[in-house]
Amino acid sequence: MPELPEVETTMRGMSPLVGSIVTEVIIRHPTLRWPIPSELLQCLPHATLRTLTRRAKYILAEFSDAHDQFLGTLILHLGMSGRICLLEKNEPAAKHDHFEIHFAGGQLFRLRDPRRFGAVLWVDAKDRVGNHPLIKSLGPEPLQQSFTGDYLYQQMRTRTAPIKTTIMDGHLVVGVGNIYASESLFRARINPKTAANKVSRAKCERLVEEIKATLAAAIEAGGSSLRDFFGADGNPGYFQQTYFVYGRTGEACRVCSSPIKQIKQGQRSTFYCPECQR
Ligand SMILES: [Zn+2]
Repeated sequence: MPELPEVETTMRGMSPLVGSIVTEVIIRHPTLRWPIPSELLQCLPHATLRTLTRRAKYILAEFSDAHDQFLGTLILHLGMSGRICLLEKNEPAAKHDHFEIHFAGGQLFRLRDPRRFGAVLWVDAKDRVGNHPLIKSLGPEPLQQSFTGDYLYQQMRTRTAPIKTTIMDGHLVVGVGNIYASESLFRARINPKTAANKVSRAKCERLVEEIKATLAAAIEAGGSSLRDFFGADGNPGYFQQTYFVYGRTGEACRVCSSPIKQIKQGQRSTFYCPECQR
């Protein structure tokens, strides 16, 4: 599943299109997680892509009309298996290519999504994208300064669920997916089963640092593999990284050599070292 670093890299990869004018919109398969709004076929041609930003795992693309007036915001989500490729115009579409926007200058971006849990939504100028139900209740961005150890510590005072499931709650902080939750808990030496309200202030400080460091390293790795990620070869291209614990069940801990354990928490697999993370 694309996590925050893949989404950030996707957004950065699309950035050459900012300032370009839309020539055509193609909807091949409108039924993603929600239907792709057909009004895009009318309202986007001749519009200009003004900005690209990311909020949690949503890519927000703002468009203006031919008179330079704000037109609306396209919300893109990669779902479970989605991928956005930046391509040249003559690249033929394949089976799972559901949506694309062509730009003057001959480039296009194309959403490929075999499992179709992704989303393409439109918020027009009458509404603010920040008020959209998918965006409105999101917690802070993990890489922003407002996400601090003190914030995490205060938020966890009233929570008794395990720390692992707590830091994956998007109301608390966005974008800490399963891989990065396991990895940052290892790096902070916190047992994933610890109740959130039993984690000390010092450990919260450490955990926030490790979440930021883990995500930043993944984004950096993504930047260096951008070419592969945007290739038209159909491979998912998600970043191959060296993990401390994620996916390493039974293998030796890189720090203490104990076997890495795997448990289920909230239907997701958690990986940890029982020696290092007491
Ligand atoms: Zn260990």
